[in-house]
Amino acid sequence: MSNINYDKCPNCGKSLKGFFSTELVVQSKVDFINKHLKENKEAYCTNCSSPLLSKIADNFRKQKGDIENRLKQIIHFIPVMTSPTPVKWEYEVLDMVTAQTTSGTGFVTELSRSFNDFFGSGSNASNEKIAYATNLCKADLRVKCVRLGGNAIISTDIDFNEIGSGSTNMLMVCMAGTAIRVTDMENFSAKNRDAIIEVIELTEQLEAINRETK
Ligand SMILES: [Zn+2]
Repeated sequence: MSNINYDKCPNCGKSLKGFFSTELVVQSKVDFINKHLKENKEAYCTNCSSPLLSKIADNFRKQKGDIENRLKQIIHFIPVMTSPTPVKWEYEVLDMVTAQTTSGTGFVTELSRSFNDFFGSGSNASNEKIAYATNLCKADLRVKCVRLGGNAIISTDIDFNEIGSGSTNMLMVCMAGTAIRVTDMENFSAKNRDAIIEVIELTEQLEAINRETK
């Protein structure tokens, strides 16, 4: 395809020769546009590909926003337990997961960065700050666990530390736990099971979008 010599863009008809000419975009971009706009054009030029690429980017942004909003509502269904796993559970151990938050800062993982607003902006009350930082950490652990292919975190440990001195001291919350994949989903209640499966599916979709738009 790419070695066909066009005089004008086969999509928009703009001339590829002369002073006001345009250039064809690389094949990978053509494939990308065709795939996401369900088109079957042979080529696009820099002129006509630009609005098409923006449209695709807008679609991705909207999809991402929708997925993240839904994830915010249901991410807490991924259990974070301080105990070891219940005796009857069958599971695989995946890896250790850790999370840290300092009051005022948000998530550390890229995927969950946009979750920030969900927890609102920080309040001055210490208890609320602690709860806020703790929630951020837990959500972060959950996201990391799901990205490892897991569906629960066990043996979680929480540490609260004050860092800095005088008026600049900040609260730091650290959590560490073990991400596991519970192999028999029957161990979860029906409602939790559905939510957990949805969290995993949505996370996979987000990762696919991230890969696609890299
Ligand atoms: Zn064109």
